[in-house]
Amino acid sequence: MSKQASDSSDYELKGATEVGNFFISNYPPYSFWSPDKVNEIQDAMARSPEPGNPLGMYLHIPFCRKRCHFCYFRVYTGAKSAEIKDYVAAALKELDMYTAQPFIGNRKPSFIYFGGGTPSFLSTDMLRELVEEMDKRLSWSDAKEIAFECEPGTLTEKKIKVIKDLGITRLSLGVENLDDHILEINGRAHRTPEIERAYKAAQDAGFEQINIDLIAGMLEETEDNWKRTVEKAIAMDPESITVYQMEVPYNTTIYQRMKESGMLKAPVANWETKRRWVTYAYEQLEQSGYEVKSAYTAVKKGKNAEFLYRDLLWKGADLLSLGVASFGHINGTHYQNNHDIDPYLDLVGKDQFPIYRALTPTDEERLIREFILHFKLGWIDPAYYREKFGVDVRERFSEQLGHMKKWGFIDRDDTIISVTRQGLLQIDVLLHEFFLPEHVNQRYA
Ligand code: SF4
Repeated sequence: MSKQASDSSDYELKGATEVGNFFISNYPPYSFWSPDKVNEIQDAMARSPEPGNPLGMYLHIPFCRKRCHFCYFRVYTGAKSAEIKDYVAAALKELDMYTAQPFIGNRKPSFIYFGGGTPSFLSTDMLRELVEEMDKRLSWSDAKEIAFECEPGTLTEKKIKVIKDLGITRLSLGVENLDDHILEINGRAHRTPEIERAYKAAQDAGFEQINIDLIAGMLEETEDNWKRTVEKAIAMDPESITVYQMEVPYNTTIYQRMKESGMLKAPVANWETKRRWVTYAYEQLEQSGYEVKSAYTAVKKGKNAEFLYRDLLWKGADLLSLGVASFGHINGTHYQNNHDIDPYLDLVGKDQFPIYRALTPTDEERLIREFILHFKLGWIDPAYYREKFGVDVRERFSEQLGHMKKWGFIDRDDTIISVTRQGLLQIDVLLHEFFLPEHVNQRYA
């Protein structure tokens, strides 16, 4: 992707999809989190919680049936049930270590998230045991949202009912595309009949909220197929549809194959095309009773479409994070667990936190973090930052906001600052404008 900015109001993201991660999920960039700072997270855990700050809990399940060609997560395929059992036991032991720490205070989690990998890869018995044991250690009775990611091919009717009975409120299905050839060529484990079966069973089970994920610009995607996928997704009528633009990070099978064959540009649609496809999806969704609520999400009007995990985390909630490679945040310090399963199991086995790197942002970095993450929702309320940080964000970011206005990416600036649709569709690159100089051009991993 090339970013072009000049004084003559042209700012565009152009050209072929180059290799790399552009999606911003936190700030400062992960490359600044460091093993030297692990003591900071230990100190943070030893303090009482900030009054009124909610607590969330995240568990990473790193197992999948098959590795998708575009996947850049740490996942393990072909895991045996004994290995999964050991992993679940380690995650519970890790939770025991956290619950003994002062940062918990009297809090119970307000939101819980099972991510992966594929949480639905676990058997029904394993899921029941896991949830029961987690709840015993840190009660779920205050949790307003319990989100659970699924790969459609791992779901049976029975498993879906069990997941519902466990109290899951938000079921997120990694559909990605609704064409079997596209699914196959991108290395997905499921096909459309499995999506249809799983989706119907999930609807019948009566979850408060079902989300389906789509990706614009997968390998061999075409204009016609994308339109059909959008049409079919709308016909499914979920409460929420999340649309990502395909990226090709370094640690993907696609990149490996590019390297082997000497290709420089990823064999996926260019950025203009992907933006056009997402624009099409959002227009169709809006005509069908959905509202675009963030750069990636459209939700059905009048239905429960809250997403606490995102909204509270972006406002600085604590996140007790369990499992290999998972990311957490406690009392102002960010941390990430060891990203390989063997050292993770080994450390937990020795009663040690399996934390690999950490970072305590400065006040200014915290302000930037909350500002840029919230920008992904398409609007900013300056009053929030005045109250929380004592900062006038219009003044602090006057230069950057001025550029965004000049480039046509801000269309309203009165009580609220709001981002145009074109701005929203390239928000992850625009947000680099707000980074501190030392964080610009850093690899986002
Ligand atoms: S299902 Fe998700 S986590 Fe698993 S390999 Fe595919 S993209 Fe990666």
